[in-house]
Amino acid sequence: ILTKATDYLQQVYEVIEQRDPHQTEFLEAVHDFFQTMTPVFEKHPEYIEANILERLTEPERVIQFRVPWLDDAGHARVNRGFRVQFNSAIGPYKGGLRLHPSVNLSIVKFLGFEQIFKNALTDLPIGGGKGGSDFDPKGKSDNEIMRFCQSFMTELSKYIGLDVDVPAGDIGVGGREIGYLYGQYKRLRGADRGVLTGKGLGYGGSLARTEATGYGLAYYTDEMLKAANDSFDGKRVAISGAGNVAIYAIQKVTELGGKVITCSDSNGYVVDENGIDFDTVKQIKEVERGRIKEYADRVASAEYYEGSVWDAKVAYDIALPCATQNEINGDQAQTIISNGAKIVAEGANMPSSPEAITAYQKAKLLYGPAKAANAGGVAVSALEMSQNSMRLSWSFEEVDDRLKQIMKDIFNNSVAAADEYGVSGDYLSGANIAGFTKVADAMMAQGLV
Ligand code: GLU
Repeated sequence: ILTKATDYLQQVYEVIEQRDPHQTEFLEAVHDFFQTMTPVFEKHPEYIEANILERLTEPERVIQFRVPWLDDAGHARVNRGFRVQFNSAIGPYKGGLRLHPSVNLSIVKFLGFEQIFKNALTDLPIGGGKGGSDFDPKGKSDNEIMRFCQSFMTELSKYIGLDVDVPAGDIGVGGREIGYLYGQYKRLRGADRGVLTGKGLGYGGSLARTEATGYGLAYYTDEMLKAANDSFDGKRVAISGAGNVAIYAIQKVTELGGKVITCSDSNGYVVDENGIDFDTVKQIKEVERGRIKEYADRVASAEYYEGSVWDAKVAYDIALPCATQNEINGDQAQTIISNGAKIVAEGANMPSSPEAITAYQKAKLLYGPAKAANAGGVAVSALEMSQNSMRLSWSFEEVDDRLKQIMKDIFNNSVAAADEYGVSGDYLSGANIAGFTKVADAMMAQGLV
């Protein structure tokens, strides 16, 4: 049976690789995932029988479209838009929209693939999807952002709906962009609030949605610490990024007793031995939309350096990558280990390269994978959908309490799945197995889908 499971995984991977040899990020995500699946297929030959993996790795639907928009100089500009509706076995497609020049079909497919299992882990009824565009919001005026969002939604509106597909934010898409997207959707299709999440509080948004991914990451990491009879108390924490995930991770980690000593953007990073000040980062990044360099201009105890924070030789106990995919290569993982980190938990999606993950495993670091550790954002998105359907809104405390419980359940369910499949203590395998079996069983029950 052992050879059969590994043979099957190998065969399916080859099929996918042959179909899309250039989709490197998607292949990386699939490969990482398959590496944890052997115990599942040894135990469940019926999954092999049903060829579940080849079905699951092929999106149900891929939509690609032209996004024409007018810049401030009056020139016609064109970007490429995507929505990958990956899997609807357990609910409507759910996942963010990313606006970044790196966006292509490979990136959207890797994110959509991860989203399937992340969403399943939340135990809420949401399938997996993702979308975005290679539009670069950097340096664009507010009006250009609005015109782009309106054009993007003019096409996207044909394919989404509150019981069909519910987009939200991701890199480059925050409250402002969701507002423009929703405004356009409403003009075209009517006021279905539940069609997008991450909305403003005045028009159907949920309290604590903005904070949810960062807080959820802190809660999940707290569970990892507790399981090791430890806590955030007095821990030095390195965080990368200075976007929505990083900012609220800084706030919650600090509240839980940790000291966040770094944060970063794509140009460089700051080290603040007094602990990164949440209000200052928030002001610079969210209000002024500035660069992280400015933090060091304002805070006397901080130093700014160019380059990646993961090359910095600074002592810390916990690393929370919250920037982007593959931000940590194998050498940088070694630096993280020699800096003294005992825990890596991922706020970004797939921030650790395969070589980095191997390095963590060799060094016996505790590793909290993205699809578990950063599921708080989409979990509160699902709670926003519930509130929209019920036409009521919960208090901040109520949403935050639910978020805390969801992160605890994700951690415990991953631990239980790892135990059940003979890979105790492996949080990566546990999360993959718990997410996968839920989706696979729903697909099996629904016939050949
Ligand atoms: N983009 C976020 C993620 O990667 C949130 C998606 C959502 O809220 O739908 O999970």
